[in-house]
Amino acid sequence: MIFTHSHFDHVGSAAAIIKATGAKTYMHEADAKIAEEGGGFRTMRAAPGLLQRVLFRIFWHPNKRFESFHIDQTLKDGDVLELVGGFKVVHVPGHSAGHIVLLWKEDKVMFAGDIGTNLLSIGDPIGFENEKIGRESQRKLGKMDYEAIVFGHGRPITSNASEKIRRVWP
Ligand SMILES: [Zn+2]
Ligand SMILES: [Zn+2]
Repeated sequence: MIFTHSHFDHVGSAAAIIKATGAKTYMHEADAKIAEEGGGFRTMRAAPGLLQRVLFRIFWHPNKRFESFHIDQTLKDGDVLELVGGFKVVHVPGHSAGHIVLLWKEDKVMFAGDIGTNLLSIGDPIGFENEKIGRESQRKLGKMDYEAIVFGHGRPITSNASEKIRRVWP
């Protein structure tokens, strides 16, 4: 299991899945401690925008705990994982300090996690630990090329994805 970051909505069922499957776990080194301690999220502030502020108030619970689990391999920017077609790791902090995105199958598919969302349209995640760094990371996403993109929250984009992302994050 490769995790984009260690927020409870992305790791909450991980311990149960690992017990059931024995899956090996991968996460960026900056977020691994949160997974292994079952909580202890860094401070996050709501992103600007009404939708983000409302969703932040409903869904973000900084003191939430989850069942902890071991990270077998920590990741860093530029790592390549030779798994099911190959994943390239790109470090994109801001929403979470250890957030990564993954380019799959020779850059065809971008797994974007919570670097952004595609709820009503392509936009921000519900919050940032560091908005300025988060914006730099979003622009990094706009400079890469991929056919499709999938988000942690919202609809996937299945064609000309990097072009559509560039229009929002040039
Ligand atoms: Zn998140
Ligand atoms: Zn999320």
